[in-house]
Amino acid sequence: MTVPAQKPARKLSMKQRYTALTHDLDWTPTYVKEEEIFPYTAFEGIKVHDWSKWEDPFRLTVEAYNKYQAEKDRRLYAVLDGFAQSQGQLGLTEARYMNAMKIFLQGIPIHEYDAHRMFSNCARYLNGPGARFAALCQSMDELRHAQTEIHTLSHYNKYFDGMHDWHKWSDRVWYLSVPKSFFEDAMSAGPFEWLIAIGFSFEYLLTNLLFVPFMSGAAFNGDLPTMTFGFSAQSDESRHMTLGLEAIKFMLEQDEDNLPIVQNWLDKWFWRGYRLISLVAGMMDYMLPRRVMSWKEAFELYFEEQMLNGLFKDLEYYGIKPPRDVQWAIDEKEILSHQVYWILYQFSHAAAFTTTIPDEADQAWLMEAYPETWPVFKAAVWDKAQRVVDSGGRYFNPGLPQLCTTCQIPMGFTEPGNPLVQCQRQSVYEGERYDFCSDGCKTIFDNEPVKYRQSWLPVHQIFQGNCGGPGGLPAVAAWYGLQPGDGGEYLGSPDNQAWLAWHGQTAKEA
Ligand code: FE
Ligand code: ZN
Repeated sequence: MTVPAQKPARKLSMKQRYTALTHDLDWTPTYVKEEEIFPYTAFEGIKVHDWSKWEDPFRLTVEAYNKYQAEKDRRLYAVLDGFAQSQGQLGLTEARYMNAMKIFLQGIPIHEYDAHRMFSNCARYLNGPGARFAALCQSMDELRHAQTEIHTLSHYNKYFDGMHDWHKWSDRVWYLSVPKSFFEDAMSAGPFEWLIAIGFSFEYLLTNLLFVPFMSGAAFNGDLPTMTFGFSAQSDESRHMTLGLEAIKFMLEQDEDNLPIVQNWLDKWFWRGYRLISLVAGMMDYMLPRRVMSWKEAFELYFEEQMLNGLFKDLEYYGIKPPRDVQWAIDEKEILSHQVYWILYQFSHAAAFTTTIPDEADQAWLMEAYPETWPVFKAAVWDKAQRVVDSGGRYFNPGLPQLCTTCQIPMGFTEPGNPLVQCQRQSVYEGERYDFCSDGCKTIFDNEPVKYRQSWLPVHQIFQGNCGGPGGLPAVAAWYGLQPGDGGEYLGSPDNQAWLAWHGQTAKEA
């Protein structure tokens, strides 16, 4: 008996293979209603008529995805090992550089994990298979980001303060409520708002302003692990940006009734995200011993040029306008970092990072980067801070600051065009008064007062005795889990002294 010769299996093209392994695994349910399987995509008001119109431009299968990611992880962990074995921390520009990484470790990885959770949710609950699969990939990316960021920075925890209890601090410490409230605000929204908040507004509009300064800051300051992590996350980021862009276009193309809803989310999340990354402005201009570029330059390049003059021109076609408060952000670019770092400086005795007065080289750089605004701020605050130091002290603000109810940043921002007059807005809702740092934050509250009046504002919680009970700052610091050396002044700190000892220097020589 002869066996008929089998035709060799036809090789599928990339696109066919992708479709076979993703979209084609989907089926139309017959005995359960669609609303029962996907209960969360209806209540936000977004109308979708045809989920098959979702285009996934990244045709990755799970197999290919795992192969790429494993390869990137192998490379990253090889660098981490090499750095640890060669005592790479000694080659940093200076120990104070670590403050930027402390803020990164305390404020970012835990929310990568939040993003992992919410994209997993989308991977289950979005109606279309294309959208679900893209969300699944991003969900795995975000988990990997959380893990690799923690591993990347863990080596430094052996040598520097301010890195040991970041997970606890993220839940408790005042400035970390800024990123925490941002991500929890997004996670407690519906899936479409999440896609606009994180997928589009954060990943597309603002991510370059967050990642590029941190990662090139790392490269400029001898921090090979963080730089390598940045490279390993970059290809994920471009996939995330594409998902964010696809999400907004999909919603806008499906029904014209979606436009006002999407525009409102875009306005809200631009401002929430912009306020969040003001921490990056302070970091870029004041915390890096070797600077990459100023906040102002980064904002002009990555936001004004690429987004405002690029992306938003394309989105005009759909009727989308630039975010409502964009002019306010543009007006602030000259002063934002000065204001943020001054807040960090005065309250760093209750924080897990250290600060110091800009030294001579820093001041020369600031003068060049901000010829108009630096002298104003220098005279208004730093000359006074220097006089306190000269007479043997260190200025820390002894009070607790009022916080903006929406962004939760201490009220330190000013009226547009007047850098010395504090901006303060108020709303009254059901007999209670709420305060805001800006028009943007007030409008967000006014649109959803029932949500934001629940905000866990650290200062209010301290006054209510929920953060270590009575006993003032020592009780709060103990509840935070802060140890001596975690916060306060950099010069003379354990990090600073250790650095000098490692390099055989005295404070005077340095
Ligand atoms: Fe991420
Ligand atoms: Zn605010």
